[in-house]
Amino acid sequence: MGYNVAIDGPAGAGKSTIAKLVAKEKGYIYVDTGAMYRGMAIHFLDKGIRAKETDKIISALKDAEVTIRYEEGLQQVYLNGRNITDRLREEEVGKMASLTSAIPQVRQKLLELQKGLARTQDVIMDGRDIGTCVLPDADVKIYLTASVETRAKRRYDELTEKGIACDLDEIERDIKERDERDSTREIAPLKQAEDAVLVDSSHMTIDEVVAAIVKLCR
Ligand code: C5P
Repeated sequence: MGYNVAIDGPAGAGKSTIAKLVAKEKGYIYVDTGAMYRGMAIHFLDKGIRAKETDKIISALKDAEVTIRYEEGLQQVYLNGRNITDRLREEEVGKMASLTSAIPQVRQKLLELQKGLARTQDVIMDGRDIGTCVLPDADVKIYLTASVETRAKRRYDELTEKGIACDLDEIERDIKERDERDSTREIAPLKQAEDAVLVDSSHMTIDEVVAAIVKLCR
């Protein structure tokens, strides 16, 4: 069994930024499970399937192979052999991922892949249900959060920096909607595991959050 660190939390809490930095410092493999749900979402979108068409989604799972590879230290996501990393962060993809991740068959397909990655390697894995469902015996569990205003502002700055026009209020609305959906779904909802350490990054710098988490790791 590898050494396992689980980081869960709502959208835009900075999980991936923090997990990548901790992984680098401690020599762990970073596993971004949100990217896997996003990869699946791209598969459904490319087939012209809408989020409500549950039967079509379940049947489309048969020919969806999402794989994660590490190239020059960077995580690359492949869908049926095609590198789709560039499309993962699109808003439409995030929304579709949030909607389709509530379908048990979609979760089941990715669960084994996620467990398998953690079995033999030292990993830091981020998502919504890592500490509660995927790696219930993780060595360290973190619940990373921040106020909705802070998370919306961070997302706004990130998009603006990339030259993408966006509206702060709309981002905040989307984040609230996604949090609500992720935490109220029946299967594997977003929630803090009983044995997770709560880290609220609203008033912390990235370095402070990384240092706090590194301190909890072996
Ligand atoms: O973290 P990220 O925004 O990339 O995740 C996209 C969506 O995938 C989330 O809104 C959530 O619905 C879903 N997800 C999940 N379980 C995970 C990771 C992501 O349901 N472990």
